[in-house]
Amino acid sequence: MLWRGRRQSDNIEDERSDSGGGLGGGLGGSPGQFRIPIGGRAGGGSSIILVILVVLAGWYFGFDPSQILGDGSGGQITDNSGSQDSTGAPASDEMKQFVATVLAETEDTWTGIFKANGLTYEDPKLVLFSGQIRSACGFASSAAGPFYCPGDHKVYLDMTFFQQLDQQFGASGEFARAYVVAHEVGHHVQNLTGIMQKFNQMRQSMGEAEANQMSVRVELQADCFAGVWAHYTAQKGILEQGDMESALNAAKQIGDDTLQKKMQGYVVPESFNHGTSAQRQTWLARGYKSGKLSDCDTFNNPV
Ligand SMILES: [Zn+2]
Repeated sequence: MLWRGRRQSDNIEDERSDSGGGLGGGLGGSPGQFRIPIGGRAGGGSSIILVILVVLAGWYFGFDPSQILGDGSGGQITDNSGSQDSTGAPASDEMKQFVATVLAETEDTWTGIFKANGLTYEDPKLVLFSGQIRSACGFASSAAGPFYCPGDHKVYLDMTFFQQLDQQFGASGEFARAYVVAHEVGHHVQNLTGIMQKFNQMRQSMGEAEANQMSVRVELQADCFAGVWAHYTAQKGILEQGDMESALNAAKQIGDDTLQKKMQGYVVPESFNHGTSAQRQTWLARGYKSGKLSDCDTFNNPV
């Protein structure tokens, strides 16, 4: 991705020096079990995509969403951007610039899409942390992977996840990382359009298996939204050869079936809550191909 020299978002909150360690353990949980962060502010209720039922169960990008605890008790997040980060390597700063640029690109794209639909996009914040962090959704550990908290409209990212993505999951490439950010921003779009709130309501009468299936639809839609973003990014002429392949490979490597096979040697389809590799690739590609939100209705179509 030809990102250097482009606008970087101001909506980055660098919490890395504050959040590393010291908070103790006990944040674990068993894979497959997760708590739903409770959405706070609704996004105005209007909906770009009609008839979408739902929202998410683990907003988390990767695996093991059970790491997130809490229910909106409201952690305070102070803005320390500009402070020296403890991981402070130049590589990390470059990665921060990359993330800030990708975030800016999502802001521009979604602002345009919302405007075209008579709506106003509110930029999310993106919090960089290391180790553990307190959000409006409770404490979270890096082990949970990146996540979006609907209660405070913030994406939380420990950039060491990118190394994990590369080394452990076999998903390398800049655009694999951009996809991670764009997917989380996709959850923000779901929050603004009221999809998450509906899911939170509906899931109260759902059993776990059904909630997992609904979660898959939410996650696949976030993948599709990431694809829509990539579509417009390609139109700007800043995608490079192999970029989309990197993102699609990432979608494959973090599919529930692939992850479960890798981590436990077998798959438990009922526990899937993000979608299989094939599903994630399909929906990412679908959004990318057309750039149309109407092609991202994972709730009224077979997935
Ligand atoms: Zn997600």
